Amino acid sequence: CKKMVFAGRPSRPASCLVLASGGRAPAYANSRAFSSSLPRNKERLVILGSGWGGYEVLRAIDKERWNVTMISPNNYFNFTPLLASCAVGTLEFRCATEPVRRYSPEVVAYQAWCDHIGKPCQRFGEEILILERSATDRFSSETIAMCTLITFSAPGMPATPPLSFETRSAPKADATTTQFPGTGTPFTLTYDKLVIAVGAYSQTFDVPGVKEHAHFLKDVKDARAIRTRILECFEQANQPTISDVERRKLLNFCIVGGGPTGVEFAAELHDLLHTEMERHYPGLTRFAKISMYDVAPQILGMFDESLVKYAEKTFKRDGISIFTSHHVERVEPGKLFVKEQGEVPFGLLVWSTGLAPNPLVQSASDVKKDLKTSSIITNDHLNVLKEDGTPYSDVWAIGDAAMIEDARLPATAQVANQKAKYLTKKLNRLVKDKDSPKPFEFHNQGSLAYIGNWKAIYDRSGTGNNVMNKETGRLAWLLWRSAYFTMTLSVRNKILVPTYWFLNWIFGRDLTRF
Ligand code: FAD
Repeated sequence: CKKMVFAGRPSRPASCLVLASGGRAPAYANSRAFSSSLPRNKERLVILGSGWGGYEVLRAIDKERWNVTMISPNNYFNFTPLLASCAVGTLEFRCATEPVRRYSPEVVAYQAWCDHIGKPCQRFGEEILILERSATDRFSSETIAMCTLITFSAPGMPATPPLSFETRSAPKADATTTQFPGTGTPFTLTYDKLVIAVGAYSQTFDVPGVKEHAHFLKDVKDARAIRTRILECFEQANQPTISDVERRKLLNFCIVGGGPTGVEFAAELHDLLHTEMERHYPGLTRFAKISMYDVAPQILGMFDESLVKYAEKTFKRDGISIFTSHHVERVEPGKLFVKEQGEVPFGLLVWSTGLAPNPLVQSASDVKKDLKTSSIITNDHLNVLKEDGTPYSDVWAIGDAAMIEDARLPATAQVANQKAKYLTKKLNRLVKDKDSPKPFEFHNQGSLAYIGNWKAIYDRSGTGNNVMNKETGRLAWLLWRSAYFTMTLSVRNKILVPTYWFLNWIFGRDLTRF
């Protein structure tokens, strides 16, 4: 790895990334030094993650002046606020994604996991062990992405490694994944600047059975799986051989987590049940039920009290049951066990109880981390901090994976996107040897949540803006739709999103089950 000094820049020590691709974790000893065909007169910027943080950097970075490499297990960006709509067919899946490859060939992209960031060729034995140990991780086994191992040494690297992240899990090879020679071999990449935007995972609080039997809603693949399951439940419940008791069980849709994701999914599902499902499965919707569970005494904790009351009242009127201060103890196939209720059968369980740290971030050493969330701590210029509080000058972290020291900003797309915009501006100035911008400042645009039946809540209280700081009902719903339409990134999706809203309003949602 140490030989990988950029040609023409001998004075600058190379940064070195080791990557691997393919099914099961390969022997680390086979890792290949990787050299890209990119011109060497530009600094190499590596972006980890193609979410709200990473994709925005990818979009706006000056590609004329940077050699950009994107590493992400997804070759697309997820527009997360629209996933609940996609899960019930209000929108098609394409509406909530943007391709990373749009920026090829200016940008090099590898569909791969970063499993390690650290000193080149460091602790090989341990890395192999960790890769194999986590190979059964459900989250990775769902992705056909390659297993990636990244090791780097920062420019001006001291004798000890600047950062040391340990492995992310290796995807399991399955019958549908064809392995090609070389796709499982770790390889290294070099960088000059690194942006860590790997986001977070879904929190399960180690409740037994959740990973195996619940659906999460973090990715468009999750939305597709949920939509398939809803339709499956209805088709099964429609079988003439099924008893009414079984129908009731199959059509009990449970949601654990009363945050905005859980609430929006419940709202969208309610809309589906009371429109197309009523038409297509006459007589079945009387068996259907939506139940939401949360350990907290109220749902939507981050919203103003009056808005929460409005949402709860609307849900109650719409027949959505809210069980606050309820504890789910374990999940088994088709049933969950609630401390206060005992066994609760379900046809679909959607689990949305917040964020757990990304393993890559969790295993980082010599990085300052938040004790509660394990997020990477950065300074207000978004540089990653070492344990002793000094910043890494060439490594930045943004989005759900990071938080600014002494500033508790929410883990939202809004924050991730604003940080990415700030960082891109900084990098684009840096490459022109111009001054860095001022420290990052968050501008709160408020929070929105759809609560069903063409109603939403909007909360901008606490932002210091006294004009229209709380809104409910249709007007808030209009704000909700226009906000997400405005935020939609590509022209293609700016056309697709309203087109599907309109088509589904006129003709109803498409309930074909593939
Ligand atoms: P992400 O967007 O999660 O992206 C992380 C990226 O890193 C992904 O591409 C992932 O594949 C990749 N990655 C992970 N591990 C690795 C690895 N080891 N190596 C390389 N790449 C890796 N926020 C709002 O502000 N408003 C909303 O309305 C809203 N609605 C939401 C609805 C849903 C259903 C969900 C799930 C979230 C919602 N959020 C919303 C929150 C918002 O989506 C997140 O805060 C935001 O996605 C964080 O951006 P990020 O870039 O940090 O992470």
